[in-house]
This record gives sequence, structure tokens and C-alpha cells, in this order.
Amino acid sequence: MKNAFFNTLLNSNRLLKESLIYPKMMISEEPKIHVGILDRCREARGRLNGSFLVNGRFVSDSAFHAESSGGDVILTLFPENEVLRGGQIICVPAGASTFTLSNVTIGIRFHWERKEDQTFQGSLLLLARKDGTVTAVNETGLESYLASVISSEMNPGAPMELLKAHAVTSRSWIVSMLERAREEKHEIGMTSGMIEREGERLRWYSREDHDLFDVCADDHCQRYQGITKIIPERAARAVEETRGVFLVDRGEICDARYHKACGGLTESFENVWENREVSYLSSIPDSPVQHPPVRSEEDAEGWILSDPDAWCRVRDAHVLRRMLPSFDQETVDFFRWKVAYDREELEAILKERSGIDFGVLQGLVPLERGPSGRIIRLKIEGSKASWVVGKELEIRRWLSRSHLLSSAFVVSVERDASGTAAHFILSGAGWGHGVGLCQIGAAMMAEEGFKAEDILKHYFLGAELKKLY
Ligand SMILES: [Zn+2]
Ligand SMILES: [Zn+2]
Repeated sequence: MKNAFFNTLLNSNRLLKESLIYPKMMISEEPKIHVGILDRCREARGRLNGSFLVNGRFVSDSAFHAESSGGDVILTLFPENEVLRGGQIICVPAGASTFTLSNVTIGIRFHWERKEDQTFQGSLLLLARKDGTVTAVNETGLESYLASVISSEMNPGAPMELLKAHAVTSRSWIVSMLERAREEKHEIGMTSGMIEREGERLRWYSREDHDLFDVCADDHCQRYQGITKIIPERAARAVEETRGVFLVDRGEICDARYHKACGGLTESFENVWENREVSYLSSIPDSPVQHPPVRSEEDAEGWILSDPDAWCRVRDAHVLRRMLPSFDQETVDFFRWKVAYDREELEAILKERSGIDFGVLQGLVPLERGPSGRIIRLKIEGSKASWVVGKELEIRRWLSRSHLLSSAFVVSVERDASGTAAHFILSGAGWGHGVGLCQIGAAMMAEEGFKAEDILKHYFLGAELKKLY
């Protein structure tokens, strides 16, 4: 009797505790999402294709130009040169009307950065910023947003189970992000962070720069190109077949991160972003065989300089072409890679990227690594200054004019006769932060016949799948 009483008490306490920790109601219908297409631009140009209601006024097939003045958007519609003005201008499509925005930059700060015209479904919001710039936002339903994301992130010729796994991952990531955005800004995962102390700068990056919309259209959030490219039937089907399905852990939608290629071991959340353990984002071997985590510099050398069996160990350009959208094929050596710098060149890059003059560069010393071999804290030693930099993205930014593929690397220094460093050779593993789903690994698993559910459970430890609408 006593035991039963205690058990009931314990259970009710646990329930109470759980409801305090997880008080959120999960969504039960498809959310709307606001995607920033152009941000902080001097002007926005484009075209309304078909009929629209523009701030309540009927407009049909019209080119437009928007700029900002005195906190208002000034919208000129052609050919009539009609001018509309407002703090925000909302263009709501009638029926299947679309809009086109000109000169949209994609791949911002990446080696493949380029501009193109892009076409979208849904509403167009033009917003004025106080600094005199214009922001263009696309309001659309989550599911049609996803169809576009999937077809931009992955080649629609990729295996169906991969497209489905990616649809569930992207859907979970975005809704989890929206939910956190609605809470306090200082809540988990929402703020970028910086810890700066004497000679040390640790930074991590999040989405806090987006104040007027939920996500941007670029790799910073998820690649979104509207309907510029016709959404292939397979991508649309992958989204449709997983409609409303989410990764869920302990009553919450998972913050399902993903990256290009882990390099054989995925990384744990807290080593890339803030120090918080996320059980479903802990490190796993991305391989049909077991690999122990990297725990020491010797481990890191052994791991990174070897060529271990892993799902993302793919070098066949033919296979990659089937998985990845065209502009990603430029990078084929991502599983194990090498970058060599002359000392002077690396000194110049470091000065340009960090604003710190290190003088004569003497060494790059990893102080702390995560289980995937990614460096969390790197000591940069020079004749004028020595700094410790972290976390992984900041390291990648400091050591390259674009982005280093990953922070999982070992350094060898070639010195001249006097002992001065002449060359720095970085030998690395993987592409991206390494947390969560490994896109190329997932693609290969799907190739081998694994189902979307198996793939998701492999990368997101302990997470479950739930259909919420
Ligand atoms: Zn973004
Ligand atoms: Zn991988």
C-alpha cells in the first residue's frame, strides 16, 4: 500500500515536473512562414505576374520598383508610374499569381555567390528600415516553402527516402526555430554568443539578425529559391508524403540541424553553439562500423589523416551529381581535404578576417576538440599577438577568405633553415558544422536502401517521428 502510494506521488511529481519543463502545446495546423528574400537593400525591383491586391488596390501584370524614404516604402508601379507609399506594402496574390524579384544574391559569402532573378508564390511584403533600406519578405505556407527548400538543397534525382528524411528534418528545424523565436530572445539556440576574455574570443552564430522575418533565403538559414526552378514532382511528393511529420523529443519538436558531410563522426551541439546538451544532437559514428570518438590530439591525427569507412565517404563525382544541386559539385574533396598556405598569405588572411595583427605567424595549436575532431578552441601564436579563437565557424572564418570546409583539421608547419614557419598545411575532414543529419551520409544510406525513418533515427539519437497535422 505504502509503495503504491509513494509511486503515485512520485509519478504525479514527475508529471508536474515535466509539465513545468515542457509546458508547450505542439502545433496542430500548417504554420505560415516569412522568408526574407532581400534585406537592407537600397532598392528592390521586380514584377507582379498576374493579379495582386497591393495595400488593398487591384494591380495586374506590373513591373515595380521599391525604395525607402522617411521610414516608408515608396513603390512605383510600371508602366503607369503609379506611386504607393506606406510603412509596409503588402502584395497579396489572386489565384496562382506569382511575383519575381530581380538580382537576388544567393550563396552570400560562399565561393559560388551569384545573383539571379527569382519567382515566388504567396504574398510579397515590402518593408522599410529606419536606415533607408528596403526588405522584401515572402509569406508562404510551410509545406510549399519546404518543397522549394528540398529541391534547392538536394538534387531531386536523389533517392526518395533521402528527400523524405530531408523534408522531415527541415520541417522540424524551422518550426522549432519559430517556436524558440516566439519565446524570449535569450532562449536557447536563438542568440549568437560571444565570450571574450584576455587573448580569447569564442563566438557562435545564430539567427538573431533576422528581425523582420523568420528565415532568410540563403544558406545561413535554408536555401530557398521560390519557384524559380520548377519544383520537381519527386521533391513535391517527398514533402506531401511526409506532410506534418516532425522529429519529436520529450514533447518538443526537435531543433533538427543538418550539414553537408560530417567526415565520419558527427559533432555534438554544445561544441558548435552554446554550452547546452541536446541529447538528439550528440555525436554518433556516421558509419556502418563503429568508430570511437576523438578524445586527444593523437586520436585527431589518427582519425583525420586516415580514410575510415563512413556513409559520407564519397568521391565519385557521378554519384554526387545525382545527390547535390549543380553549384555544390565544385567541392568534391570534402571527406578528407587539404589547404596549404604560405606563411605571409595566412598572416594576411588572419589580419583581414580577425582584425588582429599577429606579426610573424608561429603556430596554430588546437586546445580543445569535439568528438568529431572539430576544433572548438584554437590557439594562434604570432610574434606580436597570440589569441585563442572558437568556436568552429569562427575558426573557419579566420582561416580562410571564404570559409574553411570545417574546423576538423590537423596542422603541419614547414619551417625554413632558421626555424621560421614557411608553410602551414591544414589537413581536414568533413564539410560544415557536423551536427545532426549529414546530408551526404544520409544520401548514401538511402542509396543502400535505408528508409527515411531509419536515416532520421540514425542521426537524431532517441528522437521519434510524429504527424502533427
Ligand atoms: Zn538566415
Ligand atoms: Zn557523415
